[in-house]
Amino acid sequence: MMPKPLDLAVIKKAQVAIDGPAGVGKTTTARTLAKQLGLLYVDTGAMYRALAVWARTQGVSVDDAAGSAVLAKKARIRFETPPGGSPRVLIEDSDLTRAIRSPDASEGASRISVHPAVRKELVRQQRVLARRRGVVMEGRDIGTVVLPDAGAKVFLTASAEERARRRHRELEKQKQPTSLEQVLLDILERDARDLGREISPLLPAPDAVVLDCTAFDPTTQISVVRRVVETLLMNPEIHD
Ligand code: C5P
Repeated sequence: MMPKPLDLAVIKKAQVAIDGPAGVGKTTTARTLAKQLGLLYVDTGAMYRALAVWARTQGVSVDDAAGSAVLAKKARIRFETPPGGSPRVLIEDSDLTRAIRSPDASEGASRISVHPAVRKELVRQQRVLARRRGVVMEGRDIGTVVLPDAGAKVFLTASAEERARRRHRELEKQKQPTSLEQVLLDILERDARDLGREISPLLPAPDAVVLDCTAFDPTTQISVVRRVVETLLMNPEIHD
């Protein structure tokens, strides 16, 4: 079969799902891909992180299912990109962009995201965002739950050791010092929680392309994912 040539009209209204475990490079990949294809970028992990940080400031425990669900319904999570600036995440007037990247926020997000009512509300908000225009959405359950009809679904994997190295480098860049061993332990703990939760466990959709990115540098990873996404969008019969 000859792959069809790129049709920009198809790409512009596409729904692209990028899923995978912590530290695999979803954010860099999905954000760059969205920019290259001219699509909206939505980081659903940032939404769970923002809610977890917000819960702490509101005195609600991330383990309190009912309290977290009330907060999820009340809190309006917004993404804003100031002209020439980088994307920010806000709840009400609080800019949480930096706070959501701390190891504490990672753990909080992983804990608050196990509550079914929290997931239900954030999935609803994510679908509203995807209705506006073509989107690249990254998370854990985008291909399986949030956008089951997405035209391209990619599930990224990499060894836990490589993911820990990537996350450790990122934290060092952000001047948030921690040891590689600690990052690996955090990643293994989050993997276990993401895989073991009853609702929307971390699993590739049956029609997702699974890519092992352990050996890829960031540039290679982005160009491989882009090639796969464009091929899937232009050849929908591949899904059948
Ligand atoms: O992707 P990121 O590491 O920012 O996500 C933070 C946490 O939020 C994850 O460990 C996961 O538990 C949760 N999450 C989720 N579903 C998503 C996105 C993130 O459960 N769609």
